[in-house]
Amino acid sequence: MKDYARAVVIGGGVVGVSALYHLAKLGWTDTVLLERTELTAGSTWHAAGLLPLFNMSYSVGQLHQYSVELYKTLEKETGQDVGFHPNGNLRLATNNDRMDEYRNYQCTAETIGVECHLISETEIKELWPLANTEGLVGALWHPTDGHIAPVDVTMALAQGARLFGATIHQNTNAKSIERNASSEWVIKTDKGNITCEHVICCTGNYARTTAGIVGLQIPAIPVEHQYIVTDIDPVLEEYRRAGNNELPVLRESDSSYYLREERMGWILGPYEKGAPICFADGVPNTFEKDLFPGDLERLMPHVEAAMFRVPSFENAGIKDIVNGPISYTPDGNPMVGPAFGLENFWISEGHSFGVTAAGGAGWQIAEWIINGEPTVDMLGVDPRRFGVVSKNFAKIKNEEAYAHVFVNHFPMEEREEARPAKTTPVYHKLDEAGAVWGARFGWERPNWFAPQNVRRKDNYSFRRSNWFEHVGNEVRAVRENVGLLELSSFAKYEIQGSKAREWLDSLVANSIPKGIGNMTLAHSLNHSGSIRSEYTITRMRDGLLGERFFVVGPGAAHDIDLDFLQRQMPRDGSLQLIDRTTQYGVFILAGPNARKVLEKVADADVSNQAFKWLTMQEIPIGFCPSVTSMRVNFLGSLGWELHHPIEYQLQLFDALHAAGAEFSMTNIGVRAMESMRLEKSYRLWGTDLNAENSALEANLQKFIKLNKGKFTGREALISQQEKGVPNQFCTLEIDSDDADSFGNEPIILDGKVIGRGTSGGYGHYVEKSLLLGYVETEKAIIGQKCHVRLLDQLRPATIIAESPYDPKNIALRA
Ligand SMILES: Cc1cc2nc3c(=O)[nH]c(=O)nc-3n(C[C@H](O)[C@H](O)[C@H](O)COP(=O)(O)OP(=O)(O)OC[C@H]3O[C@@H](n4cnc5c(N)ncnc54)[C@H](O)[C@@H]3O)c2cc1C
Repeated sequence: MKDYARAVVIGGGVVGVSALYHLAKLGWTDTVLLERTELTAGSTWHAAGLLPLFNMSYSVGQLHQYSVELYKTLEKETGQDVGFHPNGNLRLATNNDRMDEYRNYQCTAETIGVECHLISETEIKELWPLANTEGLVGALWHPTDGHIAPVDVTMALAQGARLFGATIHQNTNAKSIERNASSEWVIKTDKGNITCEHVICCTGNYARTTAGIVGLQIPAIPVEHQYIVTDIDPVLEEYRRAGNNELPVLRESDSSYYLREERMGWILGPYEKGAPICFADGVPNTFEKDLFPGDLERLMPHVEAAMFRVPSFENAGIKDIVNGPISYTPDGNPMVGPAFGLENFWISEGHSFGVTAAGGAGWQIAEWIINGEPTVDMLGVDPRRFGVVSKNFAKIKNEEAYAHVFVNHFPMEEREEARPAKTTPVYHKLDEAGAVWGARFGWERPNWFAPQNVRRKDNYSFRRSNWFEHVGNEVRAVRENVGLLELSSFAKYEIQGSKAREWLDSLVANSIPKGIGNMTLAHSLNHSGSIRSEYTITRMRDGLLGERFFVVGPGAAHDIDLDFLQRQMPRDGSLQLIDRTTQYGVFILAGPNARKVLEKVADADVSNQAFKWLTMQEIPIGFCPSVTSMRVNFLGSLGWELHHPIEYQLQLFDALHAAGAEFSMTNIGVRAMESMRLEKSYRLWGTDLNAENSALEANLQKFIKLNKGKFTGREALISQQEKGVPNQFCTLEIDSDDADSFGNEPIILDGKVIGRGTSGGYGHYVEKSLLLGYVETEKAIIGQKCHVRLLDQLRPATIIAESPYDPKNIALRA
């Protein structure tokens, strides 16, 4: 066995082999794959081989699309047949909400170039003559995907990897993974040791065990997944013998199953409620290339639904039930990227559509390793997006994610299970006040407040729904009076040291604030000039170690940012980074009367002269001796972010409300904030600010100081500045009175896609349906008329000036 390689992939399923193939293809031929038994022996051998392009996630959608294109070329490249059947797939809809889901998906598909069509009942019958179309309102038709032979595609990738020069060692079990004195990884196997720079874990059902070896706790726990293989269906046989083509894969989302042809019979695969997780404590030694016993009772509702939809299905006797472990994660998407806290340790685990995702996942992880960054925005699959969660949390969420595969994916959907997980001290008070909760990064956050006698529940829809009016009232309360939002989920870090300024300066595009109490909005960029993260950086009073900065970032980016910042820390101990996220709560007090409320409780002069916009003061409020009060907020009204020691949160809340009573101060939720930040064209990290668009495209010029010296991304921005950028960030007003954008909608001019929406919604105060997004530079002109596809309709839209509310920031400066 080789004892040194540049990179070692652990796991010889389709995902690991694809990572190997792509590393070798990109030039890292000194790459080795270790497989404990034989290639495909994990979940890959028993997969049904479906390749659905359908995916609501922008990241995953691109990975799937790449895979399908790659698999079509593999036979030519490697000589190995992959059994690709491009028979397309048909997703049926029995109700209009489902059609809305497809319409919404179609917008995402259009922005990434996936071909799909909405079709009528008559067209369904033409494509699928054996189907009973009763009760159907339409379908979504993907003509270019289909299914593939999972073992064959893995073998073709393996063959390709070998042709590029990579090595595969089968029957080689990676038993331990350690660092040596040179910071290389040493993998101990039953065949000897291998030292390498990079480790890529692709161990499928063994993910938690492998990750556990290096001290990681990852939420990739498998669920039992079954499909039925039937005998010959005589009706199908006759249909095919008559010279008809293979029927498209059929998915009946509202009955949660897929159906495809298999040797003149069928494969029926349901996503059942109550499918249990398995191997939460690791795969037992007794389970090799095995399956679980079939559970027909769990399958029956889906069998009956399939018999209704395809009456001849009844004639085909059950030949086999395949019940195997399928890896899952809390949101159902895989984990592809760097592992938290471990240099050169990579994960491609938790794949539930692994055959479909493997091509794209291998491509992107190889780029990430070799080039330092992927080209696709991988946020939706970043392994660090969950933070650290317990096994119990993952067990419940993974079962939920499995059961949700065919559940209608409403854009504002909040999933119910394993909640509440993380709460702040005011949780019960906000709950009593009528909060309708959502969860982000595990934190409970009020989405909106239901007034008395209003049902505290979201009625999900792709159009305006039951919270619309109440969110509107919250927005108006802030814009005209005063509101309070609890948003403790912000990530907060304290950075201190003699080189703190120099260090921060090298990480972000803006200059670092000089005077104590000054603050700045700063973006950390990728080498390509795209946006990695966004921070508010405030200079605090110096600490014992030197200059001190308070850095506030997006709550959902907590682990991604913390990991990034820790990796950049000098190793000489000259800098201290303290994660203050759970030590500080945050209230946002905003509105024209915010100052009047604050001056009643703050032991400080909070007048405009004494406390200027974009500054911070540490002031006593109520019983809290020091609240880090920042005159800044994401709502775009006069206001303060009040970062307080969490132990004072309840008292502070009561004090602020007591002071605010005189002004009928209102609690507000995150959906009101969302509406207000759209009205100010404030970009949101993760959507508007992303890894695919550069900071210049995002029009962040006023936050970029190219002359300040070196920082990551500077060279790319200088070059882009010379050449010009392909897109520009724009604010659009859409002519719509019943539905709003959710982001990811195509922006269309003369029938051509000229841009992509990245976020949108209703601006309640400006009374406009708004969309933020990127438009081709030459078309990004204020006043430009175009269209935006909302669901299935092309709505007239206009590019408008930034910040439709208070463009001169008069309210903020008041
Ligand atoms: C019934 C069923 C039907 C499915 N149908 C589909 C489908 O139609 N379409 C689709 O896209 N997906 C489908 N899937 C999911 C698909 O099977 C998986 O997503 C995919 O196979 C995962 O591939 P993988 O490489 O991540 O894991 P695996 O195939 O499980 O491979 C992991 C490999 O790692 C090896 N390994 C583990 N630990 C070590 C170690 N310490 N040292 C060395 N090697 C190690 C294992 O032996 C194993 O070979 C289905 C799954 C099931 C259960």
